[in-house]
Amino acid sequence: MTDSRIPFDEGLRLFKFAPLKELQLRAQKERIKRHPKNYVSFVLDSNPNYTNICDVDCTFCAFYRTPKAKDAYMKSPEEVMKHFAFAKSAGLTTVLLQGGVHKDITCDYLVSLVKLARKEYPEIHPHFFSAVEIWNAAKVSNMSVHDVLKALWDAGQRTLPGGGAEILSESVRTRVSPKKIGPNGWIEVHETAHKIGFKTTATMMYGHIETPEDVLEHLETIRALQDKTSGFSSFIPWSYKSNKTALRRRVHNWAGIDAYFRIIAFSRIYLDNFPHIASSWFGEGKQVGIDSLQYGADDFGGTIHEENVHKATDHINTTDLNGMLRMIRQAGFEPAQRDSFYNIIRTYEGIDSVELTKEGKVVEVEQMAHT
Ligand code: SF4
Repeated sequence: MTDSRIPFDEGLRLFKFAPLKELQLRAQKERIKRHPKNYVSFVLDSNPNYTNICDVDCTFCAFYRTPKAKDAYMKSPEEVMKHFAFAKSAGLTTVLLQGGVHKDITCDYLVSLVKLARKEYPEIHPHFFSAVEIWNAAKVSNMSVHDVLKALWDAGQRTLPGGGAEILSESVRTRVSPKKIGPNGWIEVHETAHKIGFKTTATMMYGHIETPEDVLEHLETIRALQDKTSGFSSFIPWSYKSNKTALRRRVHNWAGIDAYFRIIAFSRIYLDNFPHIASSWFGEGKQVGIDSLQYGADDFGGTIHEENVHKATDHINTTDLNGMLRMIRQAGFEPAQRDSFYNIIRTYEGIDSVELTKEGKVVEVEQMAHT
């Protein structure tokens, strides 16, 4: 917590009424205070899935299938490792692995994924399983959330993605995903994980039926947990993608580009205890992503070489390491590659573009003209 903490009511007023320019200037100041170097960080990663079968039926989700659907799948740990083989060949350092929720996804199954990944691909960081998947594994295995997380920790997992938060407001959840764990469940999983030693991220999916008050409730909830645990590494918001989703019919006010900039800037100043705020080339499109780096974000997410959840809504964007270098530089920053703990592991000053060898090693192929 900082001396200049913005209280809830003041935050709500700012979020609703402050000119975007004012939020932008304040956010840039905060960003420079916390990250004085001109770096924007990113990670080389991919986001495969182990199953698309899910019985939670979130109305905003186009990814899930019923068990009888023709294109439903549930992969064995060995099949999941094929995605790791691809990640290794592409020189990636992190795999963000998630899936649907059903009765066959036990704690043992999740642990076997972590163990096999650690054994066969020790160089790739396992960033696995959102809160609802942990919650479900605990339920079907008749275990506590703590014991599932401890088993994953003992298998070698150290970070958890913050997906599935949507908007941490009970009134929103009951309308968009009534069968999903609510704000208390999401917070319980993350708080328990932090106490064990995991680092996690916090996400937010906005731009559907939420109000500004709901957004503030979401931010207040994660800020309060961060005060207690300091376990969140980053805040990552994105807008709802409506295509092929049931919720689409109930959304009347679509969030535009300014809404994204406002959320990035506001979260930078309101989440005073979060080290990193991430904007993205992927979620909102490349140019919006590049522009969003002027609103206080210091991280640009991953290269996401494989992605299926947004793809199910026909939202497709692709890039690679060289694309990442170009976009961050276009925004006026210097790209810095990080790991999944947000440690900078290499910078690219003076290097215009790179190439991968067959073994996934990065080699510099073009020096910048001015070096
Ligand atoms: S968002 Fe996740 S929990 Fe909800 S239906 Fe889709 S896969 Fe299932």
